[in-house]
Amino acid sequence: MSADTVSVTGWGRTAPTSARLIRPRTYEEAAAAVRDCGARGGIPRGLGRAYGDAAQNAGGSVFDMTGLDRIHVIDASEGIVLCDAGVSLHRLMHVLLPLGWFVPVTPGTRYVTVGGAIGADIHGKNHHVSGSFSRHVLSLELLTADGEVRTVGRDTPLFDATTGGMGLTGMILTATVRLQPVETSLMSVDTERARDLDDLMARLTATDHHHRYSVAWIDLLARGAATGRAVLTRGDHAPLEALPERTRARRDPLAFRTSHLPAAPAFLPEGLLSRTTVGLFNEFWFRKAPRARTGELQKISTFFHPLDGVPHWNRIYGRGGFVQYQFVVGHGQEDAVRRIVRRISQRRCPSFLAVLKRFGDADPGWLSFPVPGWTLALDIPAHLPGLGAFLDELDEEVAAADGRVYLAKDSRLRPELLTAMYPRLPDFRALRAELDPRGVFTSDLSRRLDI
Ligand SMILES: Cc1cc2nc3c(=O)[nH]c(=O)nc-3n(C[C@H](O)[C@H](O)[C@H](O)COP(=O)(O)OP(=O)(O)OC[C@H]3O[C@@H](n4cnc5c(N)ncnc54)[C@H](O)[C@@H]3O)c2cc1C
Repeated sequence: MSADTVSVTGWGRTAPTSARLIRPRTYEEAAAAVRDCGARGGIPRGLGRAYGDAAQNAGGSVFDMTGLDRIHVIDASEGIVLCDAGVSLHRLMHVLLPLGWFVPVTPGTRYVTVGGAIGADIHGKNHHVSGSFSRHVLSLELLTADGEVRTVGRDTPLFDATTGGMGLTGMILTATVRLQPVETSLMSVDTERARDLDDLMARLTATDHHHRYSVAWIDLLARGAATGRAVLTRGDHAPLEALPERTRARRDPLAFRTSHLPAAPAFLPEGLLSRTTVGLFNEFWFRKAPRARTGELQKISTFFHPLDGVPHWNRIYGRGGFVQYQFVVGHGQEDAVRRIVRRISQRRCPSFLAVLKRFGDADPGWLSFPVPGWTLALDIPAHLPGLGAFLDELDEEVAAADGRVYLAKDSRLRPELLTAMYPRLPDFRALRAELDPRGVFTSDLSRRLDI
């Protein structure tokens, strides 16, 4: 089993720290890595797509789970897969789509592992219909700090602590996941523009439930009457009959097709993403979208994972990296969303990856992020002057609206706000104290936020 001391960061590249990176290839090696990880403990890591410091552990161990990558059982009649936690959603799509099954929830990148999907209890564009990833997990195997492997079923405290528990209850070794049936690997997509934030929220509220997937790209640099203007995309898995006759797609309707552009160059200058360039991009993006179009057929990779087509796209923010800020506030807190969007657009944050979405019912994970309501996610170059103080103010606003920020994106929240945002945190701490009294499973995130 290899173990090198390396610099480890999240996808946003904001807070690198050094750790011993250990890559177990068997469950026995995983158990040995946990047993021998030393006083600074260890944390499981998947494909490192968490933006902040959740999968890093300064001065300790980081368990790279991608070496545990076997798909054990596929029940193609029931739509259930049992696989190792280090298997990526990308691989599952390759294997499962030809069989007529799709992952139940996918985030904006398919380069995440099943373990990372459970650890952060990820959500996708279908949250309003399908909930978060944990809703589809039937059971999992967890290697805990005492060296035991526990089979963890639904409706148990350990399941609810582990789903969204950011790797802090132990190392997920395997998971059994229920899949989504599909007739084709294409999406039928409706696109429409919204002229401002109120228009956008009204459209999302009125018609979200007509589609399995729904999300809006929002122009956070637009001001005045155009504040919050947006492009909504809604989609459903295309049924076979929606595919044109005599096309390649019709002949091979379940083929998983992806496309790749050249990788982003190594680190662009930090000034490149300025208000001017991002403002121009946003203007172009808004104008390029059709006012209204229905039934466009798109590849799964185009609809769900456009950024995956550009390897290492996170380098475009320069060496300083970028912060992803994502919060959710409940229904009835629309004014808080309006205030926050106005503040961001007045602050002129050069953000071009900003999305607004409505969440449906929450799942029981104690530290799971989604609650019914409105979620906004945006990226901001980390070098922006005064960014820390500005985001602290947004945190206050979110907390005052009984909302929360997403731990998988976070690298900077102040610990005193965490209990207000996650009311089950005391239960989580108590379970962890009993399960792992020496704090074997620990991360930069858990130390920073005193989880
Ligand atoms: C372009 C992009 C788009 C994204 N879009 C979304 C989105 O739409 N919705 C969303 O919810 N998230 C989104 N994310 C965030 C991403 O889905 C989550 O951070 C996810 O957890 C990353 O999985 P990973 O395998 O890379 O895990 P890592 O980033 O390596 O780890 C994430 C957390 O999971 C834990 N973990 C990993 N493996 C295990 C394991 N085997 N056992 C126990 N714990 C484990 C880690 O300890 C850590 O706390 C996006 C990220 C990117 C880069």
